[in-house]
Amino acid sequence: TLRQSTSVQKVDPVHWSDIGGLESVKKTLEESVIWLYRHVEAYARMGISPSKGVLLYGPPGTGKTLLAKAVATESEANFMAVSIPDLIKGEVGESEKAIAKVFKMATRCSPCIVFLDELEAIFGARESSGGLGKQLISQLLLEMDNCGEGVVILAATNHPEAIDASILRPGRLDRLVYVPPPTFDERVAILQILKQTTRISENIDLRTVGNLTSNFTGADLRALVRKAGLFGLKANRQTSIEVQDFFAAASEVQPSVSQFQLLRY
Ligand code: ATP
Repeated sequence: TLRQSTSVQKVDPVHWSDIGGLESVKKTLEESVIWLYRHVEAYARMGISPSKGVLLYGPPGTGKTLLAKAVATESEANFMAVSIPDLIKGEVGESEKAIAKVFKMATRCSPCIVFLDELEAIFGARESSGGLGKQLISQLLLEMDNCGEGVVILAATNHPEAIDASILRPGRLDRLVYVPPPTFDERVAILQILKQTTRISENIDLRTVGNLTSNFTGADLRALVRKAGLFGLKANRQTSIEVQDFFAAASEVQPSVSQFQLLRY
């Protein structure tokens, strides 16, 4: 609810190395956000208004939230996660107040990364409730234009087609970054990371699992490892998940995004 959706989170630090693959995305974010923080004064000297942030888009479960957290960790900024659907579900007037509160708090906690998840929801609201939704969008744009310079916004959406161009203008979220599902090599890299916190047997060549999982996202891989762990338990294994468990799990866990749905991006 309101309190939860607007709190500054003490999150476990996420480092770039906790995110498998996505090398070019990491580089782009490092350049645009971290560079932005390091050069606030230089922008001012040049009289250029810096970008307010970046819009991450792509299928669900590909690591957008992780990326936002890593940006906060790596730039030593605070992190505030805001779910747009939660933020705007209140009564008329309440949602506007909630939006204002988020940016006020972020400015107070700056340097602060504000992660706006499911950004498209605010544009959906316009369609369903006429003038009300429009007011919400103007409020968001206003806050975005006026918040402190230590506030950087990372927004995420699975529905880029629903995002209004007004939010993508220069000085707002003027960089669009696609966060794709992992390639084979990236899946192996993600499995390697998941292996650090789960008991995956040393005997398994992770490329075998990589081959079983075309079209899987990072979130799907996490679900697969969990499922394999359950099969391991059922098979009464004492300490580690074996390759048979992965075969069994792979016959039950499906990729959450189909090849066809990916065409959207
Ligand atoms: P959504 O669009 O549904 O909000 P998302 O893109 O924000 O999803 P995350 O919440 O960041 O995805 O990812 C979900 C989980 O999947 C992560 O907590 C992590 O365990 C795993 N994961 C996803 N992508 C990666 C990745 N590239 N490297 C390591 N783990 C990943």
